[in-house]
Amino acid sequence: MADASYPNAPTPIRAGLKCCCPRCGEGKLFQGFLKLAPACDQCGLDYGFADPADGPAFFVMSGVGILVTAVFAWVEVVYRPPMWVHLVTVFPGFLLGCLMTLRPVKSWLVAAQYINKAEEGRFESLGRHDFDSRRL
Ligand SMILES: [Zn+2]
Repeated sequence: MADASYPNAPTPIRAGLKCCCPRCGEGKLFQGFLKLAPACDQCGLDYGFADPADGPAFFVMSGVGILVTAVFAWVEVVYRPPMWVHLVTVFPGFLLGCLMTLRPVKSWLVAAQYINKAEEGRFESLGRHDFDSRRL
């Protein structure tokens, strides 16, 4: 659900590709390569809600790993190159693929978390399940 006061709010995919603020679409999301800024420099949105944890790394390693492994297998079956060719092409390809997609995927997950208002689950009651106060 987009904020009505920000009509140019990006979709999660667009925010991910631009690595920008999920509310206004203008401010920067990152302070460093993967470190989130404390707040948006344009609209002031506090990024304290953002906690993608290991999600970006998992999705990137899985996706890039499947893709690179498929290319590796195809090259091996079709061309049968020596192993050093794989070492100088597959390993850097995996590394570059992961590094190039990690920021957009993390930004996409933060934007999806913001738009869906996703947060850690909370219990309404911490009491015991077998405890019935009417029997007392
Ligand atoms: Zn913003």
